[in-house]
Amino acid sequence: MFGKIWSKLSYDIGIDLGTVNTLVLVKGKGILIREPTVVALHRKTRQILAVGTEAKRMLGRTPAAIEAIRPLRNGVISDFETTEAMLRYFIHKVHQLPQNSKWALPKIPRPRVVVGIPSGVTEVERRAVQDASLSAGAREAYLIEEPMAAAIGAKLPIEEPEGVMVIDIGGGTTEIAVISLGGMVINRSLRVAGDELDMAIVNYLKIRYGMLIGERSAEDIKLEIGIAHEDWLGGKDAPVLETIIRGRDLATGLPKSMKITSIEIKEALDPVINQIVAMVAEVLEETPPELLTDIVERGITLAGGGALLRGLDKRIAQETKLPVYIADDPLTTVVLGCGRVLDNLDLLSKVKVTGGLR
Ligand code: ADP
Ligand code: MG
Repeated sequence: MFGKIWSKLSYDIGIDLGTVNTLVLVKGKGILIREPTVVALHRKTRQILAVGTEAKRMLGRTPAAIEAIRPLRNGVISDFETTEAMLRYFIHKVHQLPQNSKWALPKIPRPRVVVGIPSGVTEVERRAVQDASLSAGAREAYLIEEPMAAAIGAKLPIEEPEGVMVIDIGGGTTEIAVISLGGMVINRSLRVAGDELDMAIVNYLKIRYGMLIGERSAEDIKLEIGIAHEDWLGGKDAPVLETIIRGRDLATGLPKSMKITSIEIKEALDPVINQIVAMVAEVLEETPPELLTDIVERGITLAGGGALLRGLDKRIAQETKLPVYIADDPLTTVVLGCGRVLDNLDLLSKVKVTGGLR
């Protein structure tokens, strides 16, 4: 009975634990948190110094004693304590609790939590997130796989006997899934996504112009002028974008700046985009014929930040000869999916990979 009363005081929340961004949705209130998945730790004691936006500011700028890390960078949960600290930070934040308070029941309400995790994670990693959510204060913690969450968030008819295909392109992983009757018929997790696109820009500039830039500058260039298709506007006359980049001349070691165009950046990005397209083609080849017919009719839905790369939808459409749609606000699709299953417990029990009461 106490459980019931306390549950009224707490918020049910959905968490998209992404490799780049963590989003938290509170039932009835919407998305309250969008912060980078970054943790700053004391190098020796492993004490957590900052999480999220504050920790991201430290990336690449830390003195020897501090380390700022992206714990999910490759779509794997590298260590339990950091993951728990992060989840605790976000759960406390939406409840407006002081960050250093331990959960002392029954003073503090305990929420039901649904976490979206990459489908490539191992059983051990799943358990780590599950346990971390519970010890971070959840009353019940459920995990659902990101492509499933993305499909639900994009309002695709996943419970029907009909094939739908989603591609979620995040920072560390690209997840491709074919879903029917509430289950994933085919599902691939490729460790090639936004981060690899950034690295491709770094390498291109190094080889082509003997110029060294950081990964964060490379991401800025990608956002500013990156394209995946020459006709990224859809027509024949999409303009060529350009920007000034600043870095270090590898020959002299001195600062250097130069102009670069979207055509060159496309050349840099192409090999990575080809890997993603090849994986999509592979999944389509494996898709049973009936489901394939549905996908031909309904098209492919793109989610995740990578879906926003100019012309990527067009590029995938051209290579697969299928219609491709971008989910509304693709950076939020997964967390919206987590939120929708909080409202629909039947659906939750169908799509959860693990979880339940403490
Ligand atoms: P994750 O789920 O792994 O945390 P997200 O779905 O939040 O990742 O997407 C983050 C990735 O999307 C980053 O690599 C970022 O550079 C990329 N991204 C975000 N906006 C854009 C954009 N407008 N164009 C291209 N890439 C983008
Ligand atoms: Mg994601």
